[in-house]
Order: sequence, then structure tokens, then C-alpha cells
Amino acid sequence: MRFIYMELKEKQLLRRQAYINGEWTNASNQKTYPVKNPFDRSVLTEVPDMAASDARKAVEAAHNAFAVWKKKPARERAELLRKWFLLMTEHEQDLAQILTLEQGKPLDEALGEIRYGASYIQWFAGEAMRNYGDVIQGSGPDKRILVIKQPVGVVGIITPWNFPNAMISRKLGAALAAGCTVVIKPAEATPLSALAMVWLAELAGFPPGVVNVITTSLPGPVGKELTTNELVRKLSFTGSTQVGKQLMEQCAASLKKVSLELGGNAPFIVFEDADLDAAVKGVIVSKFRNAGQTCVCANRVFVQDTVYDLFTDKLRKAVRNLKVGNGLEADVAIGPLINDKALEKVERLVGDAVKEGAGLLEGGKRHALGGCFYEPTILTRVRHTMEICHQEIFGPVAPILAFSSESEVITMANDTPYGLAAYFYSRDYARIWRISEALEFGMVGINTGMISTPVAPFGGIKESGFGREGSKYGMDDYLEIKYLNIGGVEA
Ligand code: NAP
Repeated sequence: MRFIYMELKEKQLLRRQAYINGEWTNASNQKTYPVKNPFDRSVLTEVPDMAASDARKAVEAAHNAFAVWKKKPARERAELLRKWFLLMTEHEQDLAQILTLEQGKPLDEALGEIRYGASYIQWFAGEAMRNYGDVIQGSGPDKRILVIKQPVGVVGIITPWNFPNAMISRKLGAALAAGCTVVIKPAEATPLSALAMVWLAELAGFPPGVVNVITTSLPGPVGKELTTNELVRKLSFTGSTQVGKQLMEQCAASLKKVSLELGGNAPFIVFEDADLDAAVKGVIVSKFRNAGQTCVCANRVFVQDTVYDLFTDKLRKAVRNLKVGNGLEADVAIGPLINDKALEKVERLVGDAVKEGAGLLEGGKRHALGGCFYEPTILTRVRHTMEICHQEIFGPVAPILAFSSESEVITMANDTPYGLAAYFYSRDYARIWRISEALEFGMVGINTGMISTPVAPFGGIKESGFGREGSKYGMDDYLEIKYLNIGGVEA
């Protein structure tokens, strides 16, 4: 088995086995699959290629562990989460390096993701202690009514490759704080970050069976097990809308609780009264972070016609400064796309827009570095009928559309089945309220391109899914409400 040499301070963070019931384990059929570096497609290592039967074992372990874990005082769960957060912080450089190697994003961004992911564990260590119930006025003189919240049970967690750490920690923090146990299926492309963080969870002292990880190159059978096994009481999924719908259907037979964090098609609106330099910075962070592969990425940039030329000129200068390359090199801002399929999709969408009359202000083709690299690209004269405005681009391409009035831009912005994130820049307070209320999206960034934080409820509406991650609402998705009606207590 080949492994590229890495200067990790803690070499044990590189795991080559999955984790079931507190044990590092191979697939029952002994199969493995390669994990590749998207920079040069070299093989980093092999991990177990598990089947449904392995997932079933993990579910059973999580079910057995739930009986004990749910009864732990909240303070004990909080303390373990806190220890885990400190371990993730202590090993952040190593975790970031592993993340860059398997996912490709620049090391600074990877470090940002590790800190962001760890901040959810920290946040939910606090929230674990705030699982409050309620007292309701009795329905008669002899009645007393109480509301308690209890953990749902075993949670199946399925996550994508674009944030291999944070998409997992956002769910894990809330689930474990609530008293649930979990079986995680990370993305095929990025299992190493999941395994590394779970090794730290083991070190922190989480009991066997509370956290389990199944690695596989065939998501269907493992996904089927997690969505149909009756011992699993909730599915928390982050990924594409298409797969989310399929998994929800599979969950229907056993009526599992479901949270879905799905795809997006974020509008980014620049009004003529905006601070244009700030708006350019907003587009850079919202559009080009992670090479444009985030669910909250600006997908369509709308600029008011009176400032269109000025804005695009400023954006072009900023985009020219973005260095493309190996995420492990200094100053690199844009890494490779995750795989050839992603590259082909971006190429096709840009080609189609240009054929339909869009202008290429910057970029527009595969990068000279080869591999999965694509040039940071700006398209002008984009019309909302073009396919690129109705697909998640998931690449470093900014299509710029012109608009003249508020009503026109709101109609276009909302003309999508997705409803995850939206952004706009304006300095007019009345407009800020009007536009915020009119946008049909779960999250709105106003004069900022960065909206993700553990203290706020992250999530979408429409076909971007439902459920919220982070904030004081984040634990609700992992809790059931039970009410107690106590009779015979007349004073
Ligand atoms: P994806 O194809 O839906 O995959 C997501 C996860 O589902 C992966 O672990 C994948 O496994 C698994 N999967 C695929 N088919 C499955 C099946 N039939 N049964 C069970 N599991 C299955 O999405 P992706 O391309 O990895 O990720 C990009 C998408 O995620 C984008 O649409 C993006 O917007 C969305 N996303 C949303 C959020 C949010 O918070 N709303 C955050 C990040 C990303 P494999 O890896 O083995 O295919």
C-alpha cells in the first residue's frame, strides 16, 4: 500500500481503517479503494470499501451505545465535546494538511475549515447543557403539563466532499450534544478527514459505539442500510438535491426524521448605492472560495446597469490576483476541482453560455497546469435564460448579469427551485429591509460574502432542503418533543 510522505506531527491521524464500535476495522469482505489527491491524482492511501453488512454492524453498535449515552448527564457529554474541540484545535495543522491532500483546497482555507468545524463542536459543548423543556398551564385544575426533549436515537449521517471536516462536525456536535449516537458515511473522495477527526474523538474518550464511520466507494448499499434500517431514527444528509430526494423517499418506509442540506443557486446582487470595493471582496470570497465548490457560492452575480462596467472592471483586477495551484503551496488561492466530471461540467456550462452570446472577460478554459484545474473566469452579457443560471456551477466561474430595477432583479433572483443562500450589497436601509424580505432563501448575506458561523442557523428552503445546523436551533433536529400530562394533582 503506497502512502505519500507527509510531515505530520501526529502520524496516527492518518487512518486506513473504518471505525465501528470503538474498533478500527477493515471491510468484512477485505476490499479497499484508493483515496486520491485531486492535485495530481496520485494515490494517497487505501481505505476499506465497506458494504451494507458493515453498515448494519455499525448501526447495531450505535443502537447499543445509545442506551447508555442518552442517560449520561448533559455535563458529561459537554465535557467530552469540549475535550474533542481542544484536541481538534491542538492538531489543526495536521488536520488541515490531510484535508488539502484529499480535497485540494488551499492550506489556509483548509485550516479555516478545521477551525470552523471545531467551532461547532465547541458551540454544541455549550448547547448540550441548554436542552430546556417547558411548563404549560394545565388543561384543568387537577392537571399539570410538562414538555421534555429527548434524543431521537441512532442518526445516519451522509456528507459530501467539499467540506470533508465541517459538514460532519456541524452534524456531530448537535447529535452528540443531544444524546444521539451516529453512523457516518463520508464522501468516497474524502474519508481521511472524517477518520482523523474520529480518531481524536476516541482520544477524547467517547465510549465505543457512540461514533462510527463507514467508508465506501459504493454509496448506494450503505445509504440504503442507513435509510431503511429501523434502528436508525434519523437521517442527516448534506449533498445534492437529487440524492437528497432519493434518500428521503427511502426513509419514508420507516418514517425517519430527516434533515436535508442540499444544493443552492445563490444570487449575489450589487445595487448602484453599494460600496463597490466591498462588493468585489464579497464576490471573491463567496464565489471563488474552495474553487467555487460550496453550496452557498454566489452562482449568479446581478449588477445594476448604472455601475455594471465599473464593477466588472474592479472584479477583473481582483480575479487576476488569484493564484491557481497546489493547495500546499504558499499564496495559492484556487486549487483544483475535485475530479474530471466536475471539470467537464464547468467547461460545458461556460461553453454553452459563450455560444449563447456571453462575453469572456477573464479565463474561460482549463488551466495550463492541467489536471483538474480551471481558470478563474468572469462571464459578461449573461442572460437569465442561459443554462449556467439554472445549474450549480461548482467551479470558479462568475456569470455577471445586468439589471435595472429592484423588481426585475428580485424576480430573476427567486427564479430557481433552490433557496439556500443569497447576498446583496446596498447602503440604503429601506432597500435592505425590502430586499431581505423579498428574497426566497434561508440565509441572506447583506454587505458580506461570508455567512457561515456556528452561532447562526444554517439551512435552506424550497429544494435546498430543511433543518438548521448551528445556533440555538441546531439541536432541535436531533430531539423529540414529549409532553407529560399529570392528572390528579388538584391543590
Ligand atoms: P452528492 O452526490 O449528493 O453526494 C453527497 C453524499 O451522498 C456523498 O457521501 C455521496 O457518496 C452520497 N451518495 C451519493 N449517492 C448516494 C446514494 N444513492 N445513497 C446514499 N448516499 C449517496 O453530492 P456531492 O456532489 O458530493 O456534493 C455536492 C453537493 O452538495 C452540491 O449540490 C452542494 O450544493 C451540496 N452541499 C450542500 C450543503 C448545504 O449545507 N446545503 C453543503 C455542502 C454541499 P459518494 O461520495 O460516494 O458519491
